[in-house]
Amino acid sequence: MTECLFCGIVEGSIPSEKVYEDEHVIAFKDIHAQAPVHILVIPKKHIPSVQQIGEGEGMLLGRIFSVINRLAKEHGLSERGYRIVNNCGEEGGQTVHHIHFHLLGGRALTWPPG
Ligand code: IMP
Repeated sequence: MTECLFCGIVEGSIPSEKVYEDEHVIAFKDIHAQAPVHILVIPKKHIPSVQQIGEGEGMLLGRIFSVINRLAKEHGLSERGYRIVNNCGEEGGQTVHHIHFHLLGGRALTWPPG
């Protein structure tokens, strides 16, 4: 069994509330939602953080953002606006070391983040 929580979600050994899946990308609801819509979009491939994104990852990132776009539309966020967050490293607040993008929306979000 994998030691990476999100690889476990990809494999199905850890349950999740999936909202999207294709060959390379999955999206599921965050277990501690910080907004009415809080979805995590991740590549199935284990990449620890944005710091490990290589030159060859352009297509994958394009797919991820196109999935985010689709999910934002499906969840009624396109008109209202939303936020995409990536936390990187310790001071960036990253707690799961499998790259993921938070899609947050459904309420007015404040700035700056904490
Ligand atoms: P990070 O802090 O940017 O690394 O985000 C990790 C996110 O994963 C947090 O928002 C957690 O609430 C979320 N999370 C942790 N475990 C699970 C889980 O099992 N299912 C769904 N989301 C999770």
